[in-house]
Amino acid sequence: MDLTRYSRQMLFEPIREKGQRCLSGSTVLVVGAGALGTVICSQLVRAGIGKLILIDRDYVEMSNLQRQMLFDEEDVKHMLPKAAAAKNKLEKVNSQIIIEAITGNASVDNIDDLIKDADVVLDGTDNFSTRYLLNDACFKYGIPFSYGGVVSSRGMTAFFIPGQTPCLRCITKEGEGGGQTCDTVGVISPAVDMISSLQVTETLKYLTGNQQALRQTLKTLDVWHNHHYDMKLTTPDPECPVCLNHEFPALQKIAQNEETVLCGRGTVQIHRKAGMNLEQWESKLGQVANIKRTPFLLKAALEDGIHFVLFKDGRVLVQGTEDPVLARTFYDRYIGS
Ligand SMILES: [Zn+2]
Repeated sequence: MDLTRYSRQMLFEPIREKGQRCLSGSTVLVVGAGALGTVICSQLVRAGIGKLILIDRDYVEMSNLQRQMLFDEEDVKHMLPKAAAAKNKLEKVNSQIIIEAITGNASVDNIDDLIKDADVVLDGTDNFSTRYLLNDACFKYGIPFSYGGVVSSRGMTAFFIPGQTPCLRCITKEGEGGGQTCDTVGVISPAVDMISSLQVTETLKYLTGNQQALRQTLKTLDVWHNHHYDMKLTTPDPECPVCLNHEFPALQKIAQNEETVLCGRGTVQIHRKAGMNLEQWESKLGQVANIKRTPFLLKAALEDGIHFVLFKDGRVLVQGTEDPVLARTFYDRYIGS
């Protein structure tokens, strides 16, 4: 393989040609193609990893462009799913990389498949339930997990290695997420870029055989107020089920609630069906709603400012409410069970 395009990276002493070849042979899973995920993917693809697996459940909207580096107004116009839009851009950046882009949810049903070939998993999500799922799956299979989260001008990141460091559950308890989201207090792009760059840096160290250089702290920073803080990752929490008992709560297939409120954006996701024929739904809903269909999704404008977005994988986004009960009412009225 011609590595000339990576010459500046190979001049960097800790990487050299040997590290570059390790990168070329690696597979990385990125979950989420939002603010963190787009920066992460851009850097990894430019750096020359072998294969990128990217999964995201959403499509591109105008308010994403302020910070989600791979998207543009054309993507908004065509209502492209983020995974597909990201793949389009990334293939133009580096055609040597194998890119598998999946539009859907990372869940207990598909996580084993998603993760099985990954050398590192990077967190580009915006919610703790998916993060715990990734954490538990990574610790079950012994795969490093590069965690990152950003809100407002603050961010947090750590590189967890099963058997060597504590895990995400050791440092944040389930349900103690603080409750602030990008949609209630906002977010600025530089904070995202800082955290995602740190996530990628540790990943590059790990994949190029520079494990002795890994940071081994939980780093928190606030780029606006100029606070930086490193907390050493030492011993696991004595109550952590993952680290102490090798139990993985997020991987237990309990009957999961089929409604998910999406990051406070006035959207509830309902996933009851295994798939949807968009053409059929276009003719059904066309009687009662304004319809726009693309190869990937169907958008229907209903009464009272409620919009449905139907995806082929069976998910429906009910936009215009954050009330799961109301969302279910509209779903039952127009889609049925
Ligand atoms: Zn733990």
